[in-house]
Amino acid sequence: MNRVRLLVFNAALGALDYRVPEGMTVEPGSAVVAPLGPRQIVGIVWEAERLETAEVPESKLRPLIEVLSVPPLKAELRRLVEWTADYYCASLASVARMVLASGGALRGPASVTEYRLTGGMPERMTPQRERAIEALDGEQATIRELAGIAGVSEGVLRGLVNQGVLEPVTVDTDRPYKRAEADHAAPQLTREQQAVAQRLGEAVEAGGFAPFLLDGVTGSGKTEAYFEAIARALRNGRQVLVLLPEIALTEAFLRRFEERFGAPPVTWHSSLKSTERRRAWRAIASGEAQVVVGARSALFLPYARLGLIVVDEAHEVSFKQDDGVRYNARDVAVMRASFERIPVVLASATPALESLQMAASGTYERLELPSRFGGAELPGIAAIDLTRDPPERQRWLAPPLVAAIEDRLAKREQSLLFLNRRGYAPLTLCRHCGFRFQCGNCSAWLVEHRLSRRLACHHCGHEEPPPAACPECGEPECLVACGPGVERIADEVRERFPEARIAIATSDTLNSPDKVAAFVSAVDAGAVDVIVGTQLVTKGFHFPELTLVGVVDADLGLEGGDLRAAERSYQQIAQVAGRAGRGAKPGEVLIQTRHPKAPVIAALAAGDRAAFYDAETEARRHAGAPPFGRWAAIIVSSEDEAEAKEAARALGGSRPAVADIAILGPAPAPLSLLRGRYRYRLLVNARRSAGLQQVIAQWLGGLSFPRSVRIGIDIDPYSFV
Ligand code: ADP
Ligand code: ZN
Repeated sequence: MNRVRLLVFNAALGALDYRVPEGMTVEPGSAVVAPLGPRQIVGIVWEAERLETAEVPESKLRPLIEVLSVPPLKAELRRLVEWTADYYCASLASVARMVLASGGALRGPASVTEYRLTGGMPERMTPQRERAIEALDGEQATIRELAGIAGVSEGVLRGLVNQGVLEPVTVDTDRPYKRAEADHAAPQLTREQQAVAQRLGEAVEAGGFAPFLLDGVTGSGKTEAYFEAIARALRNGRQVLVLLPEIALTEAFLRRFEERFGAPPVTWHSSLKSTERRRAWRAIASGEAQVVVGARSALFLPYARLGLIVVDEAHEVSFKQDDGVRYNARDVAVMRASFERIPVVLASATPALESLQMAASGTYERLELPSRFGGAELPGIAAIDLTRDPPERQRWLAPPLVAAIEDRLAKREQSLLFLNRRGYAPLTLCRHCGFRFQCGNCSAWLVEHRLSRRLACHHCGHEEPPPAACPECGEPECLVACGPGVERIADEVRERFPEARIAIATSDTLNSPDKVAAFVSAVDAGAVDVIVGTQLVTKGFHFPELTLVGVVDADLGLEGGDLRAAERSYQQIAQVAGRAGRGAKPGEVLIQTRHPKAPVIAALAAGDRAAFYDAETEARRHAGAPPFGRWAAIIVSSEDEAEAKEAARALGGSRPAVADIAILGPAPAPLSLLRGRYRYRLLVNARRSAGLQQVIAQWLGGLSFPRSVRIGIDIDPYSFV
């Protein structure tokens, strides 16, 4: 092959052709460096017939510069990249960027210099230096990364290096990982678990595409069961990918994994340092990384010998990426397994309706774990009708829930109060003039966070200190908090039970692996009586002494009414309920609601999952919603309101008339201003059989917009804001 076509990481460049110089060998999938004008770019050699571009005459071709020292991307992965780009209406370049997610990995063997504190102090202390020394305790990274962690300039840190406060450490970037052993500490499985493990083991052994839905109640030991399939893959020298929805869950998983296999798995997530990222990427590509645990982005890595994929808590909405390439990792995982011809396991106690449907139609094989491990019973669930049993004014916990907490405190058992709202209060207003604090960049209220003394926008991250006086009328000390967040619930518990030890568990308080680990140990050691948490604590955690779960506001998730609101509420409450009574003592769940007869609440209280899913399935069928029909959202945005509106109108005006496809809108998006951009939305609803993506691609391909207008396409959207 003396002429090659490259996929490059800039969509605007399209595919580029080059000449392969004498003595250089490349094959499809090779990562290469090529000249582009005066610059050099990285590209992947692709099958020319699969990438369209204008033909360049032989004589104009420039030669490739270098082949990078990484294994060529396999055909299975190249097909996945194409499928993902096609399905989610994204550019090949943007998907390929997720594959080559570590720029550093493309360079040959190397070492880097990292720095860490020596314990010494500088001759002259400055506030900046003090801040750095405090923030860098226990850290080791490059100067640039440390500067990011400490929030100081690199210059400040260089000063500390000169003073001997930071010392250099040379790190081999490719040092090997500790090996996991399949038989390190295999548990005695229950009969039910054994049946699941055996079926999964057979599938791993046999190879071939095999999708499974592992449908097991909370606390049934799904993890133990799929660990046996991992053991089988390890014995066969195959790699395993386990996708977890949140880094917060990873900590507990890592511990269990290490106990079982004698070594931690390789982790992959967005906050890895660049050296760790490079090390992991290269070990994955060489096949040395045996088991990778990661967030959704781990799905696109170039595994050399993938033998099994597990998607744990597969119903979780966080598997859906909502910016950049808007993909659903659960669905892409199944596609990857299909291209790689390997088994994939979707594990959940509350599977997505789409997954249940796939199992019902026989596309997925269903494996069930209907009872809890160790004879633990599922907790009893009861609703508290807030219209009949309301809390006192400015309080949020109804008398029966308060009594239940008191009872647990007396018995030295633990309670968990769930409210999916970070901060102290979702809305702050002026008592005097009624002014409401709103984000300047978004159509959203600012949320008061008392612990960190700030008003924050949960959409764009904008923060400001709470003002001493109302910015509108100037009245001092006039701010009132409206409604509760977890911090306010924690205050109420503290007022009612001053002796109770309380832990607030949200993405604000558990924002690093260390903090999650500290939280888990504190609860395990019995140093916490009441946990107040958001959805972060609804899944994955196993606290045997936790016997009471209180759902503070079960109606919250049903507001806003997007297509999955009922399903999501059901899943969230069923999951958080699943944290109760996992040990020897029975659990109790109390759900505060104003609508005890609502189908979601009634099904939960009756423990009748099938009733809920059956009703929900019918509602979806009726609405032409997934899995019976398909949706796509198109968001048109611009910093200029008139321009956004005009572009949306132009898009709407040129909508194609296609049988089986309805196009609704444009209308202002529910979040009509986000990060300073005005947003309009169109919704496309298609019958299952209609070619949704082609229609959208053709429709948008025929239009052009000013550069300042952005068009976002979200296939199978989860967020309808
Ligand atoms: P799930 O993920 O289904 O909610 P887990 O996998 O977290 O359940 O299991 C619940 C608890 O039971 C965990 O502490 C786990 O270690 C324990 N467990 C499950 N199966 C076994 C087993 N076969 N032997 C010993 N402990 C088990
Ligand atoms: Zn904002």
